[in-house]
Amino acid sequence: MLLQFSPIIVLYLVAALINLILARTTWYQHKQPGSGLWALVLLCAVLWAVGSTLQMVVADPIWMLSMARFTHICIMGIVYFWGLFALRYSNHNEWLTLRFKILTAIVPVVSYLIFLFDRGNWFYATSYYTGEGGLFLLRMEPRLLAWVWAIYGYGVLIISLVVVVRSVWRTPNLYRMQAVLITLAVLLPMTSNFAQFSGLIPDYIDLTPVVFMAAGILMLIAAQRFEFLRLVPVAYDTIYHSINNGIVIVNTDWRIVRMNPSAESILGTTQSATVGQSLQILFPAQYEVIMRTTYEQPTMIELKLGNPVRTYELQANTLSNQSMLMGYIIMLADITERKIASEEHSRLLLEEERTRILTTFIAKAAHEFRTPLSVIKSGEYLIGKSSELEKIRSIATQNTIQVDAISHLVDNLLLMTRVDNRQVAFNLQKLDWNECVQTVVETQRASAAGRGITLIYEADQTHPVALIDDEMMANALRELLDNAIRYSPNDSTVRIVCSTPHCTVKFIDEGIGIGESDQPHIFEQFYRVDASHNTRGFGLGLPIARAVAERHNGRVELESSSEQGSVFSLWLPADPLKS
Ligand code: ADP
Repeated sequence: MLLQFSPIIVLYLVAALINLILARTTWYQHKQPGSGLWALVLLCAVLWAVGSTLQMVVADPIWMLSMARFTHICIMGIVYFWGLFALRYSNHNEWLTLRFKILTAIVPVVSYLIFLFDRGNWFYATSYYTGEGGLFLLRMEPRLLAWVWAIYGYGVLIISLVVVVRSVWRTPNLYRMQAVLITLAVLLPMTSNFAQFSGLIPDYIDLTPVVFMAAGILMLIAAQRFEFLRLVPVAYDTIYHSINNGIVIVNTDWRIVRMNPSAESILGTTQSATVGQSLQILFPAQYEVIMRTTYEQPTMIELKLGNPVRTYELQANTLSNQSMLMGYIIMLADITERKIASEEHSRLLLEEERTRILTTFIAKAAHEFRTPLSVIKSGEYLIGKSSELEKIRSIATQNTIQVDAISHLVDNLLLMTRVDNRQVAFNLQKLDWNECVQTVVETQRASAAGRGITLIYEADQTHPVALIDDEMMANALRELLDNAIRYSPNDSTVRIVCSTPHCTVKFIDEGIGIGESDQPHIFEQFYRVDASHNTRGFGLGLPIARAVAERHNGRVELESSSEQGSVFSLWLPADPLKS
């Protein structure tokens, strides 16, 4: 047996060793998808380098042919496993069925068998020659089947390359560098192959197994630096499948692409039954809103689903990669318990607030009763002591005034509770605004005249019409006019002016006005500027007037105040369709 040596052998052995280490390291990551396949690619490169070494070292024709056949298995293995790896790496797992694997293995296996038993030079025409440095070498000239095989092999490599490059473009930035490295790793062996074909490298030196070493190193960097073979997507996938929240993924046309098991059970359907259909079939009522708003900002909607009904929070977000819109993700979170707890919380807060308001109301109301009651009581005492008829009469008159005050207070309290209680419906009718105001003015004219106060009423010429509860509005207007008269000096003038826009009425008096510090409070219940009760009143007129206006979707405002008087205005929306 004649042994021979060439420096390329050293290179082959180094490549074999390094590839073996790389294959081993990659294999230990075999929990990550694709790493096993890549380890097999590297293992084939190891065997290829070893086969090439043995072919070179032993100068025996039969041995050399056997080794050439052996390296050929490795080359086919590399092509085959690389093809599968590319599919796995680019997440085309649906292709990787056993059937597919068997079918794609047919060409390499058959062509290898032909090569193995080739007696008629169908594959290669082999000859021996003495090359540079007196090396005894095997020449293999490709024949028909070798070309068929080469077309298949390169076809697989090129398709795999396209698949990987496509996935690079679609890869989130996080994996971009990794995908670029992997593309380089596959391009390197192909480049060396072309170099050999084009005669740049002598044909007895096959650098491909050596180049695979570089490719293996690139892959390893990709693996170590960039979480090779995508652990994070695996984690995402696990979350996607196990999370309680429903997730529906739709494309840019709002057609359903995927749905996780939770979404299936929340929506009572399956991915296979809905895939490719519009999102509208899942959310008929909310679809329009989701579609219109999600493009600009994430949409949040509360909706009720299922039987028994539960409350969900639907959140829709855009899915984009490198600012390119790729679709939308719809997430459903069950907020039933949270919602019940928060409703219970608000109910308790409301209850507390109601109790607080009621307690304050009762305390203040009781306080208002106390003054007239104590006047009546002392009056009674004096009547019992007095024998003068004139004096008794005067005390009785005083008591009547106090009784009237109490009955006025009771009326106001009842009115206040009626207006405040949203359960009590207002009887709204289309009424002429001027008429409403004027009727109230006329009822007060006589009492105003008793103090020399002139009421000047000005109607609005457009005769606006509004939806009004006649009785309630009369109460509100009466309170405002009564205030204007009561807080005006004798022999002055009060103007009542109806105007538009809206149905507006202004009560303009020349009275004492309201100081700035009191203005923020005068609409509070029981608030009075004259806290010492020297003037008649309970501090309920303005709250009633404001509440009545608000129940008509209007307002009462203190427009101005000065030494010269006050201007209170009440407005409510006019009915645009007068009839
Ligand atoms: P009251 O029964 O005390 O008049 P209101 O709620 O009607 O209760 O008014 C609250 C307070 O606002 C009054 O006590 C008074 O001090 C002040 N006020 C209301 N209207 C006028 C007005 N036209 N001019 C001056 N002060 C006013």
